[in-house]
Amino acid sequence: MDAAIKSIRPAKSNEPKKVETRPAELDPSEFLAAAVRADQPRPSRAEAEQAVLTLLSYIGEDPDREGLLDTPRRVVEAFDELYQGYHQCPAEVLDRTFGETAGYDDFVLVRDIEFTSQCEHHMMPFYGKAHIAYTPVERVVGLSKLARLTDIFARRLQTQEHLTAQIAAAIDEVLKPRGVAVLIEAEHTCMSVRGVAKHGASTFTSRFTGMFRDNPAEQQRFLSLVRGPTR
Ligand SMILES: [Zn+2]
Repeated sequence: MDAAIKSIRPAKSNEPKKVETRPAELDPSEFLAAAVRADQPRPSRAEAEQAVLTLLSYIGEDPDREGLLDTPRRVVEAFDELYQGYHQCPAEVLDRTFGETAGYDDFVLVRDIEFTSQCEHHMMPFYGKAHIAYTPVERVVGLSKLARLTDIFARRLQTQEHLTAQIAAAIDEVLKPRGVAVLIEAEHTCMSVRGVAKHGASTFTSRFTGMFRDNPAEQQRFLSLVRGPTR
């Protein structure tokens, strides 16, 4: 991440698109299927542990000393956990929907969804909160599914911008709502413990689709609820 704190983009859709390191149009394969096929060839666990040994030697450690004997195994196990999102299918989480909305016609907002992800530039954690709203047309999902969806994308290598866009795109694609709003605030350890080493700086990213993109008043209402008085 660069050090600038990003401001929330105003509603105008005719402003020039900012240059992104990944294409703004997301490939649906990113959210409609697991990122890794079960039969995809990958290095073995032993090879992964060997790579950790190499890194230990690289920093000047003696990988044979007692305290480090189990470290390669532990690191690879931690990787399995931190990156399990590659093996999970985002669309599947959103697939179980309720058709009955009982005439509900406002947006549904789940705020303060805590997550931890790993930045794709340094493989260091960034963590914070996601706030997600969507306006259902016919299909609603269980509220925990939005948290599950966030976790699936967060447990992959990410940029905060891409994480934000992927969550919005998946909800858009699967639920076909009238609009989606996603706001993510996060602290990046690659910025707080290395590099400029500034603690406490928050990075904000947002993505609005449909009615949230087209209607500044709805966008404002989302933002004021997210920043509501009970925070
Ligand atoms: Zn980073």
